[in-house]
Amino acid sequence: MADKNHTIPAKGLLSSNRKNWDCDKSTHFESGRKNHQIKVHDLRERVQARRKSLNDSLEGEVRAFLINEAELHTYDDLTKVNPVTPTTVLKCLQARYSARVFYTHAGCTLVALNPFHPVPHLYSLDVMKEYHTAPKPQEFKPHIFIVAEEAYRNVQGQIEPINQSLVVSGESGAGKTWTSRCLMKYYATVAASSQSCQDTVDRIEKRVLDSNPIMEAFGNACTLRNNNSSRFGKYIQLQLNRSQLLVGASVQTYLLEKTRVAFQATNERNFHIFYQMMKGATEQQRQEWRMPHDQRFNWLPNADKTLEEDCFEDTLEAMVHLSIDSEKQAQIFRILAGLLHLGNVAFSPPTDESQPCDLEEASKVFLSTTSELLRIPVEELQSCLRVRALKAGRQSALLKPCSQAECGVRRDCLAKVIYAQLFDWMVSFINKSMCADNSSWCNFIGLLDVYGFECFHNNNLEQLCINYANEKLQQHFVGHYLKAQQEEYVSEGLKWSFVKYQDNQGCLDLIEGSPTSIFSLLNEVCRLNRASDAKQVMARLEKELSGNDRVSWDKFSQQPHFIVSHYAGKVSYQIEGMMEKNKDPVPPELIRLLQQSEDPLMHSMFVDIDAEGVTARGHNKVVTVVSKFKNSLESLMKILHDTTPHYTRCIKPNPDCRPLTFKKEEVITQLEACGIVETINISAAGFPIRIPYASFLQRYGLITHARAPAQLTSLNGFESGDKDSLGSAVMDVLRVVLRRHTAYPQLHSDTTTHSS
Ligand code: ATP
Ligand code: MG
Repeated sequence: MADKNHTIPAKGLLSSNRKNWDCDKSTHFESGRKNHQIKVHDLRERVQARRKSLNDSLEGEVRAFLINEAELHTYDDLTKVNPVTPTTVLKCLQARYSARVFYTHAGCTLVALNPFHPVPHLYSLDVMKEYHTAPKPQEFKPHIFIVAEEAYRNVQGQIEPINQSLVVSGESGAGKTWTSRCLMKYYATVAASSQSCQDTVDRIEKRVLDSNPIMEAFGNACTLRNNNSSRFGKYIQLQLNRSQLLVGASVQTYLLEKTRVAFQATNERNFHIFYQMMKGATEQQRQEWRMPHDQRFNWLPNADKTLEEDCFEDTLEAMVHLSIDSEKQAQIFRILAGLLHLGNVAFSPPTDESQPCDLEEASKVFLSTTSELLRIPVEELQSCLRVRALKAGRQSALLKPCSQAECGVRRDCLAKVIYAQLFDWMVSFINKSMCADNSSWCNFIGLLDVYGFECFHNNNLEQLCINYANEKLQQHFVGHYLKAQQEEYVSEGLKWSFVKYQDNQGCLDLIEGSPTSIFSLLNEVCRLNRASDAKQVMARLEKELSGNDRVSWDKFSQQPHFIVSHYAGKVSYQIEGMMEKNKDPVPPELIRLLQQSEDPLMHSMFVDIDAEGVTARGHNKVVTVVSKFKNSLESLMKILHDTTPHYTRCIKPNPDCRPLTFKKEEVITQLEACGIVETINISAAGFPIRIPYASFLQRYGLITHARAPAQLTSLNGFESGDKDSLGSAVMDVLRVVLRRHTAYPQLHSDTTTHSS
């Protein structure tokens, strides 16, 4: 578990602060009583205090915003901007973006502006090495590698290893996945454990990196906002051994948007893997998959659009590296091809209503191809899609023909359950292939990349879950940094005027709280099998949540819906279809059908599933989608709380993904939504350096003769010692430092002398 007392945060640390944190006449030190840390007022506050008497270069650095806008792009840390307002921050970021500078510190976070344009020199091997080998990488230009390196150095801890989490957030298309990939490459380079066999596919670093193209092929898709949008959340733990070498990794995924396999919004696409197959298949594969060149598939819209993500070869190569052999590959692609054919199966209403729906003539061949590719009996497939089994008593089942619409729902449901199982199978295979033995790793760096905040014309349960996840992350940030830090100052009796921030707890209570919240009401409707007519559900939500100012209703809207005021803006959610998505029922007969498959992979994916349990586990207890998602997010939050977090805020500078284009309105909305100004204010006014007494004395104790380091044999000795005497030893050192600086003011600009 991360121990705050043993961390020395460096992110809020400006290089100029580092140079100058040695005190001068006007600097005052305060000793944190509770956590036994020293806090040093930061550069800006000191400069403000000295402003009247001094007109030196240091002050000029801080005042420059007002004086010289032409130099705005040189501001590496937004805490230096004076005054800190949304407009000044925006201007500074715009100036930097125009100067092709994409990273900027914002106190404890890093702001990453998406260039939407390749900048290879910024991420080269040499640059990685430079940041990795620098004694103080923080003094280099802001870069994602600073965050990476800081986590890498922190993970060792001063006393015990501290696991780290790199949380990358931002809206869809802002650059989260890109950044996570970049971080993975960094660690695969600087923490490479298998240098001796650089080119072999056995290299663990290679396997870890190769998990990306596979997971993206199966879990990403082209949406209106991003050509390579992640349709699942991902937390990857990079496992390090005692020598801090990368020895393995494990990945946890969250809520794949499986509906996409059977439904794609206008101008969006299905998962990349289907297009890769269509474009990259050999003639032999085409024959095997029954995919002639001119074949059109309903579930493959916008296939003419060419994306760089359509590269089948990359996925195949990565599969080989992760030991997915050609036989397994063949099984995987056969199943996927089967799904495409299933999407072309359509039904027409029967002439006799007591009979099942008819299969459209053109559909017959698609149905038989599906059964052939999925290796399931065609008659049973046809029957499962068109006839529902109603449970009557313990054994027997009544058969009831489905309506045309119901047949379509069952077809889509079959595709979704197969795709979701295949995705899960792939993730667990990847994990087996790259996870190290428990005994061979001791700590980890976790990278979190979840889908960004979404607000479309039509939003449903998927967007509610995605935006809920973003609220949770925002709360983690607010709780960890904005709230905890300020509360700590107050509790330690330090002078501090509270900086206001937007707390999103209210929104989380609205979504997930108890006893009454959107989730609890949706679950209740699903569990009690209440009439799930959208209008009735809306009336119930309206009644139960009437006093909550985070939710509203547009009286003029035709569609039953509710509007949630998220930290990132208001989103209107359609209620139609939400209950069904929340229940996510899979008819047991479909599962039983898939369990009969003669395809070994398909069989293995379903053999352990309790057909009845897919909809009802235990005694009629529906495990809903939102309950499952809430639980998995809670586990994730627990991991994040137990690690030292590092935040990177990716910003999308324009909505159209145009290269090097900065749209002020677009950026300011994102800055406001993530509370960047508050973060900067707290960082700028706060204490950028926190050093536990023990570490401080070990490093600087030699200044005083009273307690020389030689007497202090171990850090543990410090810890168990009398805290008060530790505190007074610290103050002794500080007094000496103060006296020295009064005597030798020239030391201010000398970075090397302060420790001597
Ligand atoms: P989503 O939430 O939809 O998954 P995202 O935040 O993960 O979105 P990315 O897919 O990482 O967004 O980024 C979108 C695109 O922006 C990338 O495909 C890439 O083209 C470009 N991009 C992002 N970051 C960079 C960068 N640092 N340099 C160059 N291009 C970038
Ligand atoms: Mg992404």
